[in-house]
Amino acid sequence: MIFITGDVHSKIKGNWEHQGPSEIFAAEQYLKILKKFRLSCTLFINGKCLDNEGEKVRKLLEYDVELGGHTYDNFGKINLFKSYLNRKFFNCIYGSEKFQKKDIKKTKKAFEKKGLQMNSWRTHSFGSNEKTFKILEKNRVKYVSDLLGHIKIFEKNNLIHFPINIPVDQNTIAYGKLRPESRDPFASCTKGRITPDEWFEILKQRIIKNEKKGIPSILLIHPGTMATLDNFQLFEEIARFLSKFESKKISEFKG
Ligand SMILES: [Zn+2]
Repeated sequence: MIFITGDVHSKIKGNWEHQGPSEIFAAEQYLKILKKFRLSCTLFINGKCLDNEGEKVRKLLEYDVELGGHTYDNFGKINLFKSYLNRKFFNCIYGSEKFQKKDIKKTKKAFEKKGLQMNSWRTHSFGSNEKTFKILEKNRVKYVSDLLGHIKIFEKNNLIHFPINIPVDQNTIAYGKLRPESRDPFASCTKGRITPDEWFEILKQRIIKNEKKGIPSILLIHPGTMATLDNFQLFEEIARFLSKFESKKISEFKG
């Protein structure tokens, strides 16, 4: 069993990826490829995309996809200083409980304005803490995919957690030329550790291993990253590989 997920953002200022016209556009290309291989997926999307690009988001729903929340707009105008303060005072990049409450409500409202329910959630930058989970529960979110690592799906305080147990594209692969120093396991930046092909190889091995053990694989592959890397060429290969397995949207999970 595999769960394919992706994150879709409104425009991020100073982003090092160039996803063409917008990440919504990249998301549609991504869904087209998944459709070709009969794969379903869950996309976590900024509330701001629903408010500002509602028509394009509606088009995405013509595919085999469900949408979950992904903060309203990546914490608003976050800068290094604010992120430092948030970590220092709240031990969490998502900031104070008050901010989180407001942001989650605002995102939920953006969904509801479009007639959609926000049943699932992933905080941008995996920035959740225990408070976030409590707020999500109060807002009737049922599924969260925010933790990283080789852990199984579990339930806690009425939330079903889907930890990402396959290495994430963005944090792992190199764009362009791979520099030897990037392979240093203690490099301060985790981006660009391995080549995209090496990453794909790890992904394949992990999924095969999980399938043998009966562990569902939770993947995070960003539409924007796949667009930037090689205009979805690698993604098409990944989808071809994934089509050998049964895929589900995360709300379809049955414990
Ligand atoms: Zn994000």
